[in-house]
Amino acid sequence: MKKHNFSAGPSILPKSVIEKSAKGILNINNSNLSLIEISHRSKDFVEIMDNATSLALELLNLQNKGYKALFLQGGASMQFLMTAYNLLENKAGYLNTGVWSTKALKEAKLFGEAVEIASSKDKNFNYIPKGYSIDSDLDYFHITTNNTIFGTQIKEIPDTSVNLVCDMSSDIFSRDIDFSKFGLIYAGAQKNMGPAGTTLVIIKEDILGKVSRVIPSMLDYRTHIEKESMFNTPPVFAVYTSMLTLEWLKQNGGIKSIEKKNIQKSNFLYNAIDSNELFSGFAKKEDRSLMNVTFNLTNQEHKEHFDKLCNDANINGVNGHRSVGGYRASIYNALDLNSVNVLIEVMNELKRII
Ligand SMILES: *Cc1c(COP(=O)(O)O)cnc(C)c1O
Repeated sequence: MKKHNFSAGPSILPKSVIEKSAKGILNINNSNLSLIEISHRSKDFVEIMDNATSLALELLNLQNKGYKALFLQGGASMQFLMTAYNLLENKAGYLNTGVWSTKALKEAKLFGEAVEIASSKDKNFNYIPKGYSIDSDLDYFHITTNNTIFGTQIKEIPDTSVNLVCDMSSDIFSRDIDFSKFGLIYAGAQKNMGPAGTTLVIIKEDILGKVSRVIPSMLDYRTHIEKESMFNTPPVFAVYTSMLTLEWLKQNGGIKSIEKKNIQKSNFLYNAIDSNELFSGFAKKEDRSLMNVTFNLTNQEHKEHFDKLCNDANINGVNGHRSVGGYRASIYNALDLNSVNVLIEVMNELKRII
């Protein structure tokens, strides 16, 4: 029985990827050994890591531009502190667009002066602040392109001479933007790339080495660049599955092609919300996310009814985050249009029977 998986994270992966990664657990590359019982220094795994890092750079169009791709541990949350540890000398600026950027700013303050350049907290983060200015004396400016919890997304990447640092956990590989605008991009794998347990970090090498503090080896990006993400034992299963997803994406036409599908899916769903008076969208229209669609019932009395219809239609994971309430349909790369149509059908069904 097919489930329609709208989970926000960990979240849906392509079925073929799940099947291949399951096979790898049993027998990797016909070696009669499991992926998770071989050395990470073995030829089989070194090839996986090389392939994963080069696919990441290739898909983002960042090859031969001074960037390195790393697969690290500790989640996106570890990057909240690692970015500041490695890059904050005098002052850093943060765009506060939700729970995750609030956490990133909090960690940065442990290492120096970190200031909020603009915030949308006044409206419970239902929009993206605009019209702010970015001082040129900042060490970096940190943004969160997609706000997973609130369903907002930055459409225009800010133009600035300052290093842009970005938490792209929930929209990396989903749309075609100029990734070379960033000095550093990080993304926890479990939203649009793989299982939890690894975080992709894309870093322009020349932004490093500019802070005066001593950095512990494990938290120093230069260590991981030098050791090609093998300074310590990498999370082999998470890296392998991420590699399979990146291969899947490449085989399916890469980011440009998936972006078209993502635009189509989100347009259909937002139209269904806007054209049905039983529902209202949470995020400001111009800032709506292509990945996380947040909405609510206009009348809470219909909740039990709607939840039952969703359940009967095998819809999984549409409950909103506790800080927003209502519903959130996460429509990541691997979710197909058919699943979106099932949800739309259920929304229309509610209207018919009310
Ligand atoms: C999920 C998420 C995080 C947290 O990721 P962890 O890997 O659990 O630390 C951070 N930022 C964004 C945008 C997220 O969606």
